[in-house]
Amino acid sequence: MDYKQYIRVIPDFPQPGIRFKDITTLLKDGPAYRSAIQDLAEFAREVDAEVIAGPEARGFVVGAPLSYEMSIGFVPIRKSGKLPYESIKAEYDLEYGKDALAVHVDAIQPGQRVLIADDLLATGGTIESTIKLVEQLGGKVVGAAFFIELSYLDGRKKIGDIPVKSLVQY
Ligand code: 5GP
Repeated sequence: MDYKQYIRVIPDFPQPGIRFKDITTLLKDGPAYRSAIQDLAEFAREVDAEVIAGPEARGFVVGAPLSYEMSIGFVPIRKSGKLPYESIKAEYDLEYGKDALAVHVDAIQPGQRVLIADDLLATGGTIESTIKLVEQLGGKVVGAAFFIELSYLDGRKKIGDIPVKSLVQY
């Protein structure tokens, strides 16, 4: 399926010069959303994922249906300060300042094969911190799956040798 036709590009959002890729137009189309999840599930099966981890908030919209489709678990990666149980966190750089992602210490078992899912790969900062958290817990990141990849930002360089799947590239 050509998913690009379902993605709306918004010029100058959230600031001048940025062309924001709006996935809500894909999500509201049932068959397109389902097909996108099924395509990513094929990749998840290829890399033999045992659990999906997704960073908030749009990583939930990709990761949770993916884990449901595969009958495997989902681990939410949240902004620091949101999780109720003992957690570890990893800081990452934003355009202005820093932010941190966190995960429960018992969310992933040592040696577990983890697929990371998010809506979009841009500079790779979000995925880099997610990988760090999963690896700190002893998980093995076997793949990273996205609806969209902004190839010109070369986020893949932060992902190293981990296999990457994206459905649409810009
Ligand atoms: P990165 O950390 O790779 O630079 O940015 C990726 C993160 O920012 C993802 O979690 C994604 O949700 C969000 N993001 C950045 N730019 C866009 C965009 O144009 N569209 C959408 N939907 N998300 C974006």
